[in-house]
Amino acid sequence: MNLNSIPAFQDNYIWVLSQDDGQCLIVDPGEAAPILKAIAENHWQPQAILLTHHHNDHVGGVKELKQKYPSLVVYGPEETQDKGTTHIVKEGDTVSVLGCELSVIATPGHTAGHICFFSDPYLFSGDTLFSGGCGRLFEGTATQMYQSLQKLTALPDHTIVCCAHEYTLANMKFAMSIMPHDQAINDYYREVKGLRVKNQITLPVILKNEREINVFLRTDDTDLIKEINKETKLQQPEQRFAWLRSKKDDF
Ligand code: ZN
Ligand code: FE
Repeated sequence: MNLNSIPAFQDNYIWVLSQDDGQCLIVDPGEAAPILKAIAENHWQPQAILLTHHHNDHVGGVKELKQKYPSLVVYGPEETQDKGTTHIVKEGDTVSVLGCELSVIATPGHTAGHICFFSDPYLFSGDTLFSGGCGRLFEGTATQMYQSLQKLTALPDHTIVCCAHEYTLANMKFAMSIMPHDQAINDYYREVKGLRVKNQITLPVILKNEREINVFLRTDDTDLIKEINKETKLQQPEQRFAWLRSKKDDF
């Protein structure tokens, strides 16, 4: 299986898993033009689309793709039912595409019905988990998002995290403001800055590394608790998550 990222809009990525024979699956095609171009260039034959949530920058290209490839199967959560989805899926379901079994993980928070797809080692995390950060809480609560992230961080160390946005540098600027002396955060911030200066992608990331540099996954970390304690004392990890998330909203 080959993993490909197709840039879309300002900072979205459309992820494509392709086989050597050209059959492929497409994740969150927010617009059709860049993915149609990539399909032509790579001689891909799209078999299926996976949708993580209903936002337009993730589903906007579905209808055009279905016109061009009428046999495309589109899997998505209930909230995407009017976005071209042919198969509604929920937590615990398994999607079989290209001989690959993807399990559906419910990750509410960014939207009420957001889901992620995992097929070892690939995780398509949509707008739930970003490198160095997490999605904004548009429809869900901080506790929901905290629990969603706990599910994702429990996946195997070697998980390859495919996020839907290039937000890594902004996220690491925020992380630096929270934990300015943390070695892993400093190192990663420098690395990401170097990549972005050259306009290079910072994704995908390996979950084992992500757990060390993403403050939203470190809500039980004693160093992070120490930093938060300078401003406020919060007993529960989900309270510390909520505090971080609202700080990031205003950052
Ligand atoms: Zn979104
Ligand atoms: Fe998005």
